[in-house]
Amino acid sequence: MELGITLVCPVCGGSGLVQRDVLWPGLIAEWGLNSEEAGRISRQQGECCLSCGSNLRSRTLAGGLLECLNRRESLQALTQTPPLPAVRLLEINQAGTLTPYLRRFPNYCFAAYPELDMQHMDLPAESFDFIIHSDTLEHLPDPVAGLRECRRVLSPAGCLLLTIPVVPTRLTRRRQGLPPSYHGNPAEKPADQIVWSEYGADFYLDFIAAGWTKISCFTLGTPDSLAVIANK
Ligand SMILES: [Zn+2]
Repeated sequence: MELGITLVCPVCGGSGLVQRDVLWPGLIAEWGLNSEEAGRISRQQGECCLSCGSNLRSRTLAGGLLECLNRRESLQALTQTPPLPAVRLLEINQAGTLTPYLRRFPNYCFAAYPELDMQHMDLPAESFDFIIHSDTLEHLPDPVAGLRECRRVLSPAGCLLLTIPVVPTRLTRRRQGLPPSYHGNPAEKPADQIVWSEYGADFYLDFIAAGWTKISCFTLGTPDSLAVIANK
């Protein structure tokens, strides 16, 4: 499988995409998205694999993980064929649609808010080789603290792999002092889905502020596909 070809799904190896509606007028207005920017977010979140349902951010995250593991098969194929890499893998919250595959890794650990607050993790230093989360950072009041904690918990050769919604045509805006804006189900407005950071082209500055010095981007070769890979 060639991961650079967008139409091949890194999660399941399938092909074929469908665009689903994921944005609603209230969120677009709160975010201040113009039509081009709304189209970008819509593709990140709503362009889904016909076979496994993974959206573009989940597919990109899977592609980034396979890249880090130097594997070329799909995540589904990899995790159906033991032995799996014995990496100590921490998934924080549900990383898109990857959870059923990630949990097959022998040294897999799952933790979610509120039992685990990424800003203050009750975990030993250097206890994991991979930390994976997806569209979580923008929901932390202090994202730099969360990134600093991920760095502390990772082993020296460890890898942080994540997605965030990024609008590359603007700079990051913090929502402190603005009316609350929520992701997820617009009817529910769950407290953990409140948005604190709307990331833009300077998203990497939070990583630098948290002490990371090696920050790279993985994409599936299409605009709006972005996963961040940070190494210690
Ligand atoms: Zn798929």
